[in-house]
Amino acid sequence: MKVLKFGGTSVGSVDSIKTVIRILEKNLEKGERIAVVFSAMGGVTNRLIEIGKMAASGNTEYTEFLKVVEERHFAVVRGLIPVKSQSSTFAGVRGLFNELEDILRGVSWIRELSERTLDLIMSFGERLSTLVITEILKSKGIAAEFCDARQIIHTNATYGMGDVNFEITNRQILEYFAKNSALQCVTGFIASTAEGITTTLGRGGSDYTASILAAALDASSIEIWTDVDGMMTADPRKVANAFTIPSISYAEAMELSHFGAKVIYPPSLQPAFAKNITLKVLNTFNVDFKGTYVQKSANGKEYAITGISSIDEIALVNIQGSGMIGVAGISGRLFTALSSNAISVILISQASSEHSICFSIDPKNAQRASEILEREFATEINLGYIDSISIEKNLSIIAIVGEGMRKSSGVSGKLFSVLGKNGINVVATAQGSSELNISVVIAKSDLSKALNAIHGVFFQSETRSLNLFIVGVGLIGSTLLEQIRNQTEFLREEKLLNLNIAGLSNTKKMLLAPDGIKPENWRNRVMDEGVKTSLPAFVQRMIELNLPNSVFVDCTSDKDIVQYYHMLLDASISVVTPNKVANSGTYSEYLSLQRTALQRGVKFLYETNVGAGLPIINTIQGLMASGDKFLKIEAILSGTLSYIFNNFGPGVRFADVVKEAKAKGFTEPDPRDDLSGADVGRKILILAREVGVPLESEEVKISQILPGNCLNAPTVDAFFRELEISDSYFAEMQSKAELKGEKLRYIATLENGKATIELKTVDASHPFYTLSGSDNIVSFTTERYKDRPLVIKGPGAGAEVTASGVFADIMSISSYLG
Ligand code: ADP
Ligand code: ASP
Ligand code: MG
Repeated sequence: MKVLKFGGTSVGSVDSIKTVIRILEKNLEKGERIAVVFSAMGGVTNRLIEIGKMAASGNTEYTEFLKVVEERHFAVVRGLIPVKSQSSTFAGVRGLFNELEDILRGVSWIRELSERTLDLIMSFGERLSTLVITEILKSKGIAAEFCDARQIIHTNATYGMGDVNFEITNRQILEYFAKNSALQCVTGFIASTAEGITTTLGRGGSDYTASILAAALDASSIEIWTDVDGMMTADPRKVANAFTIPSISYAEAMELSHFGAKVIYPPSLQPAFAKNITLKVLNTFNVDFKGTYVQKSANGKEYAITGISSIDEIALVNIQGSGMIGVAGISGRLFTALSSNAISVILISQASSEHSICFSIDPKNAQRASEILEREFATEINLGYIDSISIEKNLSIIAIVGEGMRKSSGVSGKLFSVLGKNGINVVATAQGSSELNISVVIAKSDLSKALNAIHGVFFQSETRSLNLFIVGVGLIGSTLLEQIRNQTEFLREEKLLNLNIAGLSNTKKMLLAPDGIKPENWRNRVMDEGVKTSLPAFVQRMIELNLPNSVFVDCTSDKDIVQYYHMLLDASISVVTPNKVANSGTYSEYLSLQRTALQRGVKFLYETNVGAGLPIINTIQGLMASGDKFLKIEAILSGTLSYIFNNFGPGVRFADVVKEAKAKGFTEPDPRDDLSGADVGRKILILAREVGVPLESEEVKISQILPGNCLNAPTVDAFFRELEISDSYFAEMQSKAELKGEKLRYIATLENGKATIELKTVDASHPFYTLSGSDNIVSFTTERYKDRPLVIKGPGAGAEVTASGVFADIMSISSYLG
């Protein structure tokens, strides 16, 4: 004997019922005896509940809703039974609807809907679907019989979720099946009390019906036919990468389904387990797929855990007080009070200090639970032993489940570390002593991100993913995309890292595509599918998407973007940028970004703020973290000014060098923007802050290179004329230096907490003396690098090196993913 059960979607339409019939026919051809259980057509149970509630509230529109339900059944009859044999089935269906209408009329008269009446109303769902399918089978010449489970499955009078009396039930099932040899089509979900009052087995209870029958009949297996490829590593509606678990133990399946994997109704596992009957979860819409086998022990464990599930909505009750410490019996009284009021507790966590106990429950019981506890502990509250009973809502529970946890250490470390890295706060946690389950309570808004991130590390750990949101595709942004494009394959294959461009924005259009924008054709996709650019909308959408391992890459020079950095870091999204605006604003702004990133466990990286791709900021941070102290920083931090002074020498006019620099594209359109030293000022300010000097921008002392007439010239052309007129001024400075055997260099210095920028002369012993081209150079004198400073030198500007610095920052986040 084998028991098959078909769920709501499987019996929800003409097409799906055709598949069901084919599955049954195949089984019958094999000659093995089978019994089959049907759920109500998909969505019907929910509709019946709604209809019942409408009737009870006096809303007569329920009759319209009822018509729609009736029509669904009629449509199936019309679609699957030959016309000449339809009338008796129509009559049967109509008869059931007449009965239901009478009941609903009664409900609307007395304006009351008890749990008992609701069970009766819900029972029509299974009675209707099973009746119709039995008739379809009969019309195909199959010897099928309708079996109303209320005749054989008996429960107590706990309406909504009857407790099965197995002694009576098992006996009745055996007797019934001994007497009736035709194919039994059994209504799922419903049962009755000994007195014949209709009850139900709890939502999703048709699975249970199948398991009860199978256990009583000593069946060889149970097949639960549903609408997904078996039990999966996570709910496929929430985790797109979830995949089928081929083999799972009863205990694991129980734990997973108990924590929300609603693919199997948890009580169904008990009878199967007791009789050691294999339970298979199969897909009606993918008939040949092997699905999941639930057995005593699972074979071939590939991963440290078996699956992840979640309960979307829970409330956490916290009871705390200094008077609870060491007092025996508090938790006993607490849970007795709850259970005697039929409030079930999903998770419990108590700190070893015994100062507080917290537990989670269904939010609809939260208020009642708090009242019950206030009553139970009234004396303790009055005496001040218990300070407070608080309730927190909008929370979810995630449970990772698997017997493999017992053997492999580090599972919980991995769980908490991935949550931490995604900035997800764990409100409470519990691990069963069976080591089958670790549960964490988190904010509901983080649920999807957490599930995906956890799934990523446990099941797809070979390949990690970073979700990039890139804003600004000017020279640096587009070079970065080009670099990403060239590296994608290498990173995927050699580093097992997937760079997913989940959002892109240029000045005109933006596109958010969580599935990824290919760097090969980003221009076309953004043009074709993008919408008008709006930075606030981009940021908001990014936060709403709440993708794990998200990185915002700001390649703009936007001046108002700082406020978004805060929002992003706060939403646990890392920020990488060459844009100096944020770090060179006020010191408090700078500090608060650092703090937010730290608190949220995400990264704020800006190596390219100073010296493009040169490892300047990383080096400072490394030295600071390892306890070195900075005594002095000297630096040439402008490629333009470096070029100008490296090429200005005997026999060269200063104005000509500046002109040449401009012609080569090394300067801003107005070279005075470089020569003013403002940009260098921002860079030394950032370096100062990095070494712990809390400077504000006005405190950076910049000595002007240019004489007043050059500075004040009204146009760029006029500026160049004035520069030529002032030639002797520069020539004199140059020759003075020359006489001393020195060279002119525009140097930013940080010493004794003061930042200055000046045109200085350096002799041949100075590391800046030999600088050439447009290179940047910094020299760090620290306690450890005291006698000879640490010098970093190289190209400090240009799209290629800047983009590659941004890329390196992104890569450093990926290595942190672990
Ligand atoms: P049926 O009507 O066939 O009984 P259910 O809706 O009760 O089907 O259960 C199947 C659904 O369970 C799937 O469509 C899926 O969305 C959901 N589900 C939740 N968690 C899991 C999981 N871990 N594996 C498979 N399905 C899951
Ligand atoms: N029809 C019932 C429900 O929706 C039982 C089931 O489908 O298993 O809860
Ligand atoms: Mg179900």
